[in-house]
Amino acid sequence: MGIICLGAFILGLFIGSFLNVCIYRIPKGESVVWPPSHCPKCGEKIKPYDNIPVISYLLLRGRCRSCGERISYQYPAVELLTGLLTAAAVCRFGLTFSALYYLILTYYLIVVSFIDLKTMEVPVRLSYGALLSGLFLSFFVPNHSFKEAVFGASFGAGIILFIIETYYVFTGKEGMGYGDANIMAVVGAFLGWKKVLLTLFLASFVGALFGISLILINKEKREKAIPFGPFLSIGALLSLYFGDALIKWYLGGLGI
Ligand SMILES: [Zn+2]
Repeated sequence: MGIICLGAFILGLFIGSFLNVCIYRIPKGESVVWPPSHCPKCGEKIKPYDNIPVISYLLLRGRCRSCGERISYQYPAVELLTGLLTAAAVCRFGLTFSALYYLILTYYLIVVSFIDLKTMEVPVRLSYGALLSGLFLSFFVPNHSFKEAVFGASFGAGIILFIIETYYVFTGKEGMGYGDANIMAVVGAFLGWKKVLLTLFLASFVGALFGISLILINKEKREKAIPFGPFLSIGALLSLYFGDALIKWYLGGLGI
């Protein structure tokens, strides 16, 4: 199993390299397959030997070989994160259809989080594609069903819309965005309605911790809104891996 996890990690690094392309190009409405990667400053095509995940970044010390332009640390970070999460899914679910199913969700969450961080937007087409995948591939996943996926997606979107409208009625302002409803529809399709609730709870908890830390280190900028997508993603991934245990522990505590 160790060697399979290692293989998954290395494959994940390369998939992460592709996710970087998606994060960079989807907000611009560009194709993610053509043209091949090039430096955004000088336009020089990236050579295959300079396109090895993480390693090339370290060897080039984070700069373009041809013009010396700084390359964002986001590139190796996304590659490493994708590698680790791919390994996690394969270690947990084995070489199964479930692993693939949950990796589709994972890759969607990675791309959507980084796009949300950079642009404060959640791409609709990408979310729509992920939603359809979550619904229709649910037939092939053990302990999941199409019915559960449809209900989970409706519940995920519905609960966010309810929060948005309630907040608006009482404050006249928009708190969360409709993009968050799209993200939670996808999460609900893949994970079901119970983990939608858990995801929201964990996302709020992690978001609050983050907000408090920002205030403590005095970096808070009041006028700058913090995108909630990354927190929803963290909540969804925690729910995927620890959700069953957490729900069981919680219901056990209630004596149900
Ligand atoms: Zn360059």
